[in-house]
Amino acid sequence: MKLIGRIRCLFRPHKRSHSRARQVEGVYHSVCRHCGTAMYRDRDRNWRVTR
Ligand SMILES: [Zn+2]
Repeated sequence: MKLIGRIRCLFRPHKRSHSRARQVEGVYHSVCRHCGTAMYRDRDRNWRVTR
């Protein structure tokens, strides 16, 4: 359930979904498998929430 996933993500880092990862113009994009938040990987290979 999505709501539970969001609560979980308040206490834990988002967990990106491998199955939904894709590369767009050299940048990796994915979503959190728990709450569906869009994320991307920056130049330092850290995953950040897309704003
Ligand atoms: Zn999340």
